[in-house]
Amino acid sequence: MPPIPKTMKGVLIEKTGGVEVLQYKTDLPVPTPKEGEVLVKNDFIGINYIDTYFRTGLYPAPKPEILGREAEGTIIALGPSGNFYNLKVGDRVVWMGTSAYAEFTAAPASKTYPIPSSLSPSIAAASFLQGLTALTLIREAYEVKKGDWILVHAAAGGVGLWLCQLLRALGAKTIGTASTADKIELAKQNGADYMINYKEEKDFVGAVKKITDGEGVAAVFDSTGKDQFENDLEVVARKGTVVSYGNSSGAVPPLTISRLSAKNVKILRPTLFNYISTREEFERYTGELFDFITKHNFNVRIHETYPLADVARAHTDLEGRKTTGKLLLKP
Ligand code: NDP
Repeated sequence: MPPIPKTMKGVLIEKTGGVEVLQYKTDLPVPTPKEGEVLVKNDFIGINYIDTYFRTGLYPAPKPEILGREAEGTIIALGPSGNFYNLKVGDRVVWMGTSAYAEFTAAPASKTYPIPSSLSPSIAAASFLQGLTALTLIREAYEVKKGDWILVHAAAGGVGLWLCQLLRALGAKTIGTASTADKIELAKQNGADYMINYKEEKDFVGAVKKITDGEGVAAVFDSTGKDQFENDLEVVARKGTVVSYGNSSGAVPPLTISRLSAKNVKILRPTLFNYISTREEFERYTGELFDFITKHNFNVRIHETYPLADVARAHTDLEGRKTTGKLLLKP
């Protein structure tokens, strides 16, 4: 192992705002791993929509802050003590935590997982957080069964393409939404049975009802938040489930609980973290995800690998709805 340097490249924000608050630095201190942490030299950094929420302040966090929730890389040091779950220096791993937009991160060992030899580092990086989100949603938020009608919003996005492929593998009938013809085509190639352009369709509710023979869908997986929430309540079937797991169009306003009685609907607002809190849950789902990719020959779509210095362009593309699949950063 080469010696660990004192300084590194990284992206810091000192205040919330637009992409102009993203500061690319070349002299940030390399972190020292604490108890239960591993020091990882990051090779591919995953961008997630949540990074934009921390940048804008929709989700509060102390500042200054290095953004980013996941990366792939090599363990170069272990903390002074703690449970390292058999991880060792030299392992190629994916990890989930904070401060990913940097050359080095002190990551929690409990959320670090060795990459199987069957997967390339970029594919592992592109799969991890978004794939786990989709997998836990279809297992725990609503346990999808063969033959279910399922509505997936933003079906050509990062989590969206995972949902389409997993639902196809389970034998569900998927209706997806997207805003352009290219995105519609891509989601179909990845398993959506029907697609609706939700920017153009004037009678969205009618279109879903028509496809499902008036029945509605057993579950909705909605990452868009406020724009589609009212539609979700309309198109979900009696005793169905609305899973609202993101805010790309803004946060869902408060809801009067009695509205659920019209169809005995269940509503969830889950986070990935609460499905993989324990090491046992984390290992089980990550192992299953990586097996799925190999066994079902999943198409892991990487939209673009941006140089770390181009992080502002990457955020602009993501928020401007110009992307499909995963965005990565290369330090
Ligand atoms: P995506 O790749 O899905 O990108 C966002 C997509 O949302 C866009 O491409 C766009 O697709 C669609 N969209 C709809 N309305 C808007 C809007 N007003 N502005 C911008 N985009 C819009 O991102 P991710 O896969 O990273 O994340 C998807 C969502 O899932 C996010 O809301 C994220 O926060 C959430 N998430 C939640 C997790 C959890 O634990 N709860 C974990 C991971 C992700 P189109 O152009 O087709 O409409």
